[in-house]
Amino acid sequence: MKKSLIIATIMASMLSTSCSRTAQRAEADDDFNYHVERFADIEVLRYKVPDFDSLSLNQKILVYYLTEAALWGRDILWDQNNADNLAMRDLLEAVYTNYDGDRESADYKAFDTYMKQVWFGNGIHHHYSTDKFVPTFSRDFLESRIAALPEGAAPANTEALVELIFNPALAAKRVNQAEGADLIASSANNLYEAGLTQSEVEAYYNGIKKPGDLTPVSYGLNTRLRKVDGKIVEEPYKVGGLYSNAIEHIVANLDSASVYAENDAQRQTIRTLIDFYTTGDLATFDKYSIEWAEDTDSQVDFINGFIESYGDPLGMTGAWESIVNFKNIPASERTEILSGNAQWFEDNSPVDSSFKKESVKGVSAKVITAAILAGDAYPATPIGINLPNANWIRAAHGSKSVTLENITQAYDAASHGDGFNEEFVIDEETARLLDSYLFITDNLHTDLHECLGHGSGRLLPGVDPDALKEHGSTIEEARADLFALYYLGDPKLIEIGLLDSPEAYKSEYYKYILNGMMTQLMRIEPGKDIEEAHMRNRALIARWAYEHGKADNVIELVERDGKTYIRINDYEALRGLFGKLLAEIQRVRSTGDYAAAKSLVETYAVKVDPVLHKEVLDRYAGLNIAPYKGFVNPVYTAVRDAEGRIIDVTIDYTEGYPEQMLRYGRQYRSL
Ligand code: ZN
Repeated sequence: MKKSLIIATIMASMLSTSCSRTAQRAEADDDFNYHVERFADIEVLRYKVPDFDSLSLNQKILVYYLTEAALWGRDILWDQNNADNLAMRDLLEAVYTNYDGDRESADYKAFDTYMKQVWFGNGIHHHYSTDKFVPTFSRDFLESRIAALPEGAAPANTEALVELIFNPALAAKRVNQAEGADLIASSANNLYEAGLTQSEVEAYYNGIKKPGDLTPVSYGLNTRLRKVDGKIVEEPYKVGGLYSNAIEHIVANLDSASVYAENDAQRQTIRTLIDFYTTGDLATFDKYSIEWAEDTDSQVDFINGFIESYGDPLGMTGAWESIVNFKNIPASERTEILSGNAQWFEDNSPVDSSFKKESVKGVSAKVITAAILAGDAYPATPIGINLPNANWIRAAHGSKSVTLENITQAYDAASHGDGFNEEFVIDEETARLLDSYLFITDNLHTDLHECLGHGSGRLLPGVDPDALKEHGSTIEEARADLFALYYLGDPKLIEIGLLDSPEAYKSEYYKYILNGMMTQLMRIEPGKDIEEAHMRNRALIARWAYEHGKADNVIELVERDGKTYIRINDYEALRGLFGKLLAEIQRVRSTGDYAAAKSLVETYAVKVDPVLHKEVLDRYAGLNIAPYKGFVNPVYTAVRDAEGRIIDVTIDYTEGYPEQMLRYGRQYRSL
């Protein structure tokens, strides 16, 4: 189901294992204020765009137009998320901007939080859990503020919108994945017309898919399904189709950007994307994806389109998103070294040789600086991306894997002094280890996971790639994580110059076990199981290693003053355990051993010890660290001469969170 290897936001927020600055983290050392806003379970940060000024004027102008193309797609995502989101935003923003009452009242404060949650969720549902936000202000308060609005300030269907906010039965979940439910009928997204059922949608897609097609288009990627005269039809998102006004603005800015392309290949890629937006033709999207994947020369790069399908319970339609970025050339040497040694890593991994690839190519990997986050990548954003999603394109034309290092740097810098280490790390010595090496080993972990881990190993002939079914994502993520963990402790990384200390890997090992066994539980509500694939994978690895190292006391749970701490007594042995589990997980994947996958997941990855869970939640609550984080964007301004030509592009970091949201609403309103 999950087509891409995008690292979920969750991983990013896991990075916030606190640590203070070290020599490994030169950039964090300044007066830049990373903290913007804290509300509900969210912290909004800002990120720096280092080296923007080192770009040529042409590149800056290219970035500028691409960021405009990114911001113009905002309303598409809001409408994809729920059919009432745009009207709801109008209503809430009208109340917010016209408010002249007591700002200290409980009702107003609760409304202020709700407004900020809706902005963060790009609609009325939580970006991660996809549950509808629960208002904690009174209905009377909202209705009286609406009654006091100036003439024409509120949208027409105000009563229905108020009911939608306060009636928990309406649009309860944006993406429902509950087993046994009609996933289409019970999901509140706007990718399918109300009234359509899962069996109708599945029958429709089964009817148009061509059996045996080796290069299938991404069916449904850019369409909304409707029923017309009893027949299902697809309405494409395109110029002249659905979301035409937004798409026309995107196309106009892509057109301007193409003038400043760095080379002909990049210009062609942008032109093909424009063709796709103009025609809605999915074969053209594949052509664009191939051109995009093969353009590895340009420094400036971008994602712009209907990309990830997590917002669709059936995994068909892509949520609109855009990220504009440019290559961080010195940091990219790291991933190039890894890719260049891909065969060595494959040959020396602890898995059975029949499950190894004889010839392995590291995916094209680079470290990038994000210049703008938009659509489904804003305000919450991934820290690593691996695209395109179509498997046949990946196999035949390669894929691009990127790490957004200025984003990980912002997470790291913002976590300084948040008290996490003091609360959860067992002793000063371990805290110092994290201080010194966690930033670099965390980034290397991501690089190894993305560049080599997912690409390593092979299926035995005849094994169905979907044989592990609902456990496939968890096992696949565990495989990539274990590959990264195992090699972080390998002297090879010192030999090829990626680490400078044989102690460094211990920082990532400690954080990984602490997170997998304890601290990630802060994201789970009391009484609930672990559901998300990345979280399951981390629990699986950490608990398996704990259980299998018990006889040798490799990992120890230490009780002190009623609190539980993790102590790792033997890091070398822990590396051995990671290698052993990697071999087993690769066997499970290569042979399609569903029973073993199910047993691993059910034994180690799902259930939560309620006592430890409560302890973690209590200790976390005392720290007031937000479980989810996201970002405001910098503001780019084109400086023009008397003839209107752009002579410079400036960057400013001072815009606040509500200011940015309200400005985007005014400036990029398209639907
Ligand atoms: Zn992954």
